[in-house]
Amino acid sequence: MEKAEIGLIGLGTMGSNLALNIAEKGHRIAVFNRTAARTDAFVENAGALRDRVVPCYSLEELAAAIRPPRPIIIMVLAGKPVDEQIAALRGVLSANDIVIDAGNANFRDTMRRFSELTDSGLTFIGMGVSGGEEGARHGPSIMVGGTEESWKRVEKVLTAISAKFKGEPCAAWLGTDGAGHFVKTIHNGIEYADMQMIAEIYGILRDGLGTGPKEIAEVFSQWNTGRLNSYLIEITAKVLAADDPKTGKPVVDIILDRAGQKGTGKWSVIEAQQLGIPATAIEAAVAARVLSSIKDERLAAEKVYGGGVSKISGDRDALLGDLELALFAGKIAAYAQGFAVMSGASKEFNWNLPMPVIAKIWRAGCIIRSQLLDTMAEAFGASGAATNLLMAPAFVSLMQEAHPSLRRVVARAAEAGSPVPALSSALAYFDSYRQGRGTSNLIQAQRDFFGAHGFERIDGQGAFHGPWGSGAAG
Ligand code: NDP
Repeated sequence: MEKAEIGLIGLGTMGSNLALNIAEKGHRIAVFNRTAARTDAFVENAGALRDRVVPCYSLEELAAAIRPPRPIIIMVLAGKPVDEQIAALRGVLSANDIVIDAGNANFRDTMRRFSELTDSGLTFIGMGVSGGEEGARHGPSIMVGGTEESWKRVEKVLTAISAKFKGEPCAAWLGTDGAGHFVKTIHNGIEYADMQMIAEIYGILRDGLGTGPKEIAEVFSQWNTGRLNSYLIEITAKVLAADDPKTGKPVVDIILDRAGQKGTGKWSVIEAQQLGIPATAIEAAVAARVLSSIKDERLAAEKVYGGGVSKISGDRDALLGDLELALFAGKIAAYAQGFAVMSGASKEFNWNLPMPVIAKIWRAGCIIRSQLLDTMAEAFGASGAATNLLMAPAFVSLMQEAHPSLRRVVARAAEAGSPVPALSSALAYFDSYRQGRGTSNLIQAQRDFFGAHGFERIDGQGAFHGPWGSGAAG
C-alpha cells in the first residue's frame, strides 16, 4: 500500500478536522486514536477523503504506514497525555522523524520536551494552532517553534492547510523550542481580553441602557462593518441574535454567567509577571472569569450590597459611538500589552520573535483575527518600528481619536455600577504609560522611609536617603 506522507495522533475535535484538512490538500495521512471506536467513526465520516486516510490501530501500525522520515502530529489533551504519547512514540520511531505537538501546551513543557529529546535523534516541533473546529478543518493560524531546518521539512504541508489572508499563508516559523507555543499562549491571553471587553460593553448596553439581545446584536453587527471588524465581533452579533429552541428566549439569556478556562489566559498572566511586563487587560480578563465562577458568593454579595446597575442616560447615538470607540481603544491597549510581553519573552529566551510576521499570521484563521491586525503588521514592519504598539504612528492617531471615549465609558460605567475591569485596566495602563512624571516618587520615598531602600533624585546621580528622622527604619 502507498505510504502516507504524514501521521496524526488524536482524532478529537481538533485532530479529526486537521486530518481532514490535510487530506483535502492532497496529502495521504495515517491516523491513530487511543480509543479505536473514534478512529472507525472518523474513517466512516471521511467521505470523499476516505482514500487518502490510513486508519491505524497501534503506534507500530502508524509508524509502518508513514514514509520515513516521518512527520507525526500529536493533537491530544495537553499535559501528561502528550508526554505519554512522546514516550510511546520513542519506541516506534527512528532518527530524523519529526514529532509535532499541536495542542495547547505550556511553552515551558515544550522547552522541557525539546531538551529531553535532544539526544534521541527525533526532531520536535511545538506548534500552536488557533481557529477552533472550523479553523482546523478549513484553515487555522499556525505558530511553529523548533529548529528552522525542521520547519523547512514540514513547511509545505503546514502552509497548505493554513488559513490564507489575501493569498498569504497564516503559518510561520517563529523561533526555536517554545516560541510557537508561547505565541499561541499570548494569542489566547489577548483573546481573553478581547472577549472580556466585548462582554463589558454588552453589560453596559444590557444593564445601563436597557437594550435587549436582538438590538445589541444589531449594534455589534453594525460595528462589524467598521473599525471593529473581527471574528469575535461577528460571532457576538450571531450569538446575541440566536434563540433557544427549548424556551424560545434569546439563548444568551438562558446561559449561566460562569465562564470556563483551560489555562492559556492564566499562563499569559504568569509569564507577563515573570518577565516584569504589565499585561493588565489580560490579567483583568482572567480575574473576571475567576470572579464569574464564584456565582454563589456573588449572589450572596448582591443581597448585601445590591447588584443593580443604574440607568445611563444621554444621547443614544453619542453613547453608542463612545462604546464603539471605547472598545476599539481598549483592544489596542490589550494588543499593545500582548505584543510587549512577546517582545520581553523574545529577549529572555533568545527567540527573536518576528512581530510583523506574528501580526500577519493572526490576520486570518485564528479566533482574534481582525482588520486591525493588518494595520499592526504594517506598524511592526515599518523601519525603526516602536516596540510598544502605542508608540507606532498609526496607532498614536487611532488612540488619540479613541481614548476620550474609553475615558467617558469607564467613568459612566463606574458611576452606574457596571463592572468594566478590562476596559478600566486598559485605560489605566494607557494613562500610566503616557504620564512622563508619574507618582512613584512617593512610593520610592515610602520604601526609603520604612526600608532605607534609597532613591534617585531628579537633580543628581546616585542613591540618596530622605530626611525621615527618628520614626524611620534605619
Ligand atoms: P478533544 O477533547 O476533542 O479530544 C481529545 C483527544 O485527546 C482525543 O483524541 C482523546 O482520545 C485524546 N486523549 C486524551 N487523553 C489521552 C491520553 N491520555 N492518551 C492518548 N490520547 C488521549 O480535544 P480537542 O481536539 O479540542 O483538543 C486537543 C488539543 O488541541 C488540546 O491541547 C487543546 O487545548 C488544543 N486546542 C483546542 C482547540 C479547540 O477549539 N477545541 C483550539 C486549539 C487548540 P480518546 O478518543 O481516546 O479519548
